[in-house]
Amino acid sequence: MMKPPTTLTRRSVFRAGAGLAVAAMATRPTSAQAEGARPAGAEAPNGDGFYRFKIGDFQATVISDGYGPIPIRPIFVMNASEAEVAPVLKANFMQPVIQVTNNILVVDTGRGRIVVDSGFGEIRGPSFGNFPALEANLRRAAIAPESVDLVVTSHGHLDHIGGFVTKSGALTFPKAQFVFVDAEWNYWTGSRYESEIDSSPMPDPFKKATIGAARDNLPPVAERSRFVKQGGEITTGVHYVAAPGHSPSHAAILFTSGNEQFMHMGDIAHHPVTSLQHPDWTPIFDYDPAQAIKSRKAILSRVAADRIMVMGYHFPFPALGHVVRRGAAYHWEAAQWVW
Ligand SMILES: [Zn+2]
Repeated sequence: MMKPPTTLTRRSVFRAGAGLAVAAMATRPTSAQAEGARPAGAEAPNGDGFYRFKIGDFQATVISDGYGPIPIRPIFVMNASEAEVAPVLKANFMQPVIQVTNNILVVDTGRGRIVVDSGFGEIRGPSFGNFPALEANLRRAAIAPESVDLVVTSHGHLDHIGGFVTKSGALTFPKAQFVFVDAEWNYWTGSRYESEIDSSPMPDPFKKATIGAARDNLPPVAERSRFVKQGGEITTGVHYVAAPGHSPSHAAILFTSGNEQFMHMGDIAHHPVTSLQHPDWTPIFDYDPAQAIKSRKAILSRVAADRIMVMGYHFPFPALGHVVRRGAAYHWEAAQWVW
């Protein structure tokens, strides 16, 4: 299980970080002047919020779910000191608080339209995870929510399932079937998760929102859900790849069309610098950090060796690129933008 912070220094930094995270994720800014708000007339992120690419014969699109500020420590890195992290941020031209997005993958296989993970939904507006913004970006990409056939879930965290149900209780993707790894579904609809989240090192608003997202978003889709064994086939050309640790049965998703493969890495890595250059650095959300590190290295080694394009759910939009091995660590080569 997750270990609580062990030093006074870490606790105090943790509190400072938690304060920022609360601002980012648990409160609703009340005006256009709120932190992170864009000026009027500039609502859409760069690239108009969507980016199309091909996986063999599949047509794929990445949709932005908005953005929000996240402090690198302790949210993305909880097990390294300020003295260790600061020079890495400096070398990579990064600030201690960065803008983070959720990237929603849509894949048209020719047999159906698949969405992988749903973002925060309406609970985190108005920028990070504002469903009207995701919906606007979907519609800009000519993808109607009612045209989605299948919603595939990497794991049961709030920023991946929070968009299943709207605030009014309606289904965001009203005609879709939902797919989960069976053990992941069982965990987030079972009796253990609430007390385990409560005793985790996450800031309190994260705990509350994580539990609330599972309660609000999973029961309403139970009857239209299908459950797949870890590592199993989801549909033709789409498989789960076991990558546990971040959550009990967290999984990546591998797409295959012709000779081409593409992997949605889920939350195996949260940032191209902190997760790839320092694969032993762990975010505050890991269920089993030691197992998460093992899974991270296994997946990164595999996609580096196979030289396949991948997506990092929280990487800078459009979150597409390749992983290159560098000794015991990795390097991110962002895909070149095709206009
Ligand atoms: Zn996530």
